[in-house]
Amino acid sequence: MADRYLHFTGTAPGRFLTRRLGLPQPAPLRRWSLDTPRLEGPLLHLTAGSGAGAGADTETGAGLAEVLAGVGLPVVGRADRPGAIVLDATGVTTAAGLGDVHAALHPVVRSLAPGGRVVVLGTVPSPDDHHQAAAQQALEGFVRSLGKEIGRGSTVQLVRLPDVRVPGVPASGIRLPGGGATAQGAASTLRFLLSPRSAYVSGQVIELTDATPEPVTDPAAPLAGRTALVTGAARGIGAAVASVLARDGARVVALDVPGVREDLERTAARLGATPLPLDITAPDAADRIAAAAPDGLGVLVHNAGITRDRRLANMPADRWTSVVDVNLDSVLRTTDELLKGGAVTRGGRIVATASIAGIAGNNGQTNYAASKAGIIGLVRSLGPRAAADHGVTVNAVAPGFIETKMTAAVPFFIREAGRRMNSLSQGGLPVDVAEAVAWFAQPDSTAVNGQVLRVCGQSLLGA
Ligand code: NAD
Repeated sequence: MADRYLHFTGTAPGRFLTRRLGLPQPAPLRRWSLDTPRLEGPLLHLTAGSGAGAGADTETGAGLAEVLAGVGLPVVGRADRPGAIVLDATGVTTAAGLGDVHAALHPVVRSLAPGGRVVVLGTVPSPDDHHQAAAQQALEGFVRSLGKEIGRGSTVQLVRLPDVRVPGVPASGIRLPGGGATAQGAASTLRFLLSPRSAYVSGQVIELTDATPEPVTDPAAPLAGRTALVTGAARGIGAAVASVLARDGARVVALDVPGVREDLERTAARLGATPLPLDITAPDAADRIAAAAPDGLGVLVHNAGITRDRRLANMPADRWTSVVDVNLDSVLRTTDELLKGGAVTRGGRIVATASIAGIAGNNGQTNYAASKAGIIGLVRSLGPRAAADHGVTVNAVAPGFIETKMTAAVPFFIREAGRRMNSLSQGGLPVDVAEAVAWFAQPDSTAVNGQVLRVCGQSLLGA
């Protein structure tokens, strides 16, 4: 559904009027396309903190310089109008050291190009060192606040690099020389965050593991040779996910209920995908999925979802059960069976779909929010075990207000509030969620595991 307000504020009279009235000023977001594959302007690489992790002469710093060089933007130490700023704050270990964060970003933040990116790199707050933990946790508040004030379609994120301890030494606070944080494994994450693909992601904290990334043989088709199954793929977000995974080279199997077979076949034909008409709650769903991917599944995307809203006092049991069954129970069942049966290959990626309703809660959605919060529990618990036992990562996207049939059915005033109540003052598009799924699915996203990424323009709900 068209966002007329966004269009209006893009006109001269619209801009004038909304400014005078103090109304939100959404900036048109620049998304990925063949014509706009990169941000505009160089990447400004800054360092804060005098702790052991800072600077290019350390292990972290040297690895980071190499990773940033692979992002596709010229990396500079000074710039008039950077398209992106990366601040390495892994060396900030004290409250006083936070002054360096201000000193580094204060002079340059205003010069960031519209639609620019700020990524702060930190490390995991230490359970053994409360000064380091305070300083590193402070970065989260900093990033979330800067995301709210930066404006002009720009975004701000915190990426926590893994804190690698000396092998054989218990978690005693002793870290490797060079700060202990490693930039290895951050490449796919920085490629995503420092590109137009992350246009609707802001105010997020991503924590990476120390897993070694798998190589990408063809950067233009990173998923070549992999089969990706997407549930709920006939329309909306699922169709966009199928399309982006096909763009990245995957063979796609598009699953949706038999009742929408025509839409499914149309979507599948457009993408060169294989349609699989199947209700994901069917008892034999996992077997039929495995049969549709005889060479194994490289990517499994649980996207199918339904709402059956009512306040709890008015909600009959069937509305509760159907939502929990489609959104959560079928995800648990099929994931377990496909993992156990070996249908998800080593190096595989499982991506589930949560929602900000599962984080913030929502009036009339006890069933839906419970199911989506359950997805968050699933990925956090299963991620580390799936990696250890099967070499598979498990992550989730948590969309905010995304322009689809689901949100078009929301009453006008609630819909308008949903669109504006975020740092980017607009709804997202299905492709924004799809790009996040594709980032999780990358072969070199091995270090991204057990994460829940909100694709919500930094929605105020549950913030
Ligand atoms: P949508 O209603 O447009 O599409 C959902 C698809 O899932 C449909 O094609 C539907 O037929 C399919 N589906 C439903 N039940 C199924 C079943 N039992 N088996 C197989 N397929 C089934 O929804 P959407 O807006 O594209 O949402 C996609 C996912 O994103 C859902 O999980 C939804 O909860 C989640 N989400 C959406 C938003 C949003 O703003 N649109 C926000 C947060 C989360």
